[in-house]
Amino acid sequence: MSSRSPEPVHKSGFVNIIGNPNVGKSTLMNVLVGERMSIITNKPQTTRHRIIGIVNGENYQIVFSDTPGLISEPAYKMQESMHHFAVSTFADADLMLFMTDTLEAPEIHEKLQGRLQNLEVPLIVLINKVDLSSQAKVEKSIANWSTKFPKARILPISALEKIGIDHLLGLIIDALAEGPEYYPKDQLTDKSERFFVSEIIREKILLLYHQEIPYSTQVIIDQFKEGEAKKGKIIRISADIIVGRKSQKSIIIGRAGEKIKRLGTEARKDIEVFLEEKVFLELRVKVKENWRDDERTLKYFGY
Ligand code: GDP
Ligand code: MG
Repeated sequence: MSSRSPEPVHKSGFVNIIGNPNVGKSTLMNVLVGERMSIITNKPQTTRHRIIGIVNGENYQIVFSDTPGLISEPAYKMQESMHHFAVSTFADADLMLFMTDTLEAPEIHEKLQGRLQNLEVPLIVLINKVDLSSQAKVEKSIANWSTKFPKARILPISALEKIGIDHLLGLIIDALAEGPEYYPKDQLTDKSERFFVSEIIREKILLLYHQEIPYSTQVIIDQFKEGEAKKGKIIRISADIIVGRKSQKSIIIGRAGEKIKRLGTEARKDIEVFLEEKVFLELRVKVKENWRDDERTLKYFGY
């Protein structure tokens, strides 16, 4: 007679990604989750919040968080709080991913190295961007990191070129213990649509403006309403762009409103793709002096 296979176990767990800005954490998340979730740009420190992405399989669920880069010397209150986000990821992980790449110096802060060596959960060191490096250099890098983390798995990958991603997913699933579905399986993220809309606007600000402007800006979704239009549905969104100074307000707006118009158009296009609906987007610029240093304002903005 046929032998009956045992009931498959359901595995789940929380996996936290940590590493310096620009090593490719958000890119990896997007590849893994298969959907645009966190901001990817070549400017550092664009991911301010912990963002959770969920990878579901029939018999597993992996909950990822992409953390802000490790900032060693907080310059603003905001950065202190970002630093806290990064540090807090040590507390609640079932598995830790430390990401570096083939471009950055093969060094790690002593304190961070100590914490990672003493983890009670498995550690995987990801050497990203192998597409940019020779085999010999990659091997040297593997050797270097295995000296620093003798107990860890060291895995060379390319998030961009999707090299080593399936292998990584396999390693993660192997390492996870039996566990429940923490989130409904059709749910990609626990952040609201509003949050992603504000992130899309912020991403466009990063791309369209220079110097200190992106880092002096906060985006708040003021209204998010579904309405009827001639052809089906339309989502009406109004967003406030908060800046710290009057001069920044005029830069955002641009001559004869040119710049903000472009910002609005580009953001709206991406929001429509994301929401799969027609969108009417209204942007307003508001001055709130020194918002970055104001504790209460930061709380309000969710830092
Ligand atoms: P994060 O700050 O760690 O989240 O890094 P991002 O995911 O935002 O990536 C920073 C930059 O590195 C972006 O320009 C990415 O396109 C690029 N990048 C990420 N992964 C790879 C990779 O595997 N190969 C190459 N060549 N570039 C990558
Ligand atoms: Mg990022």
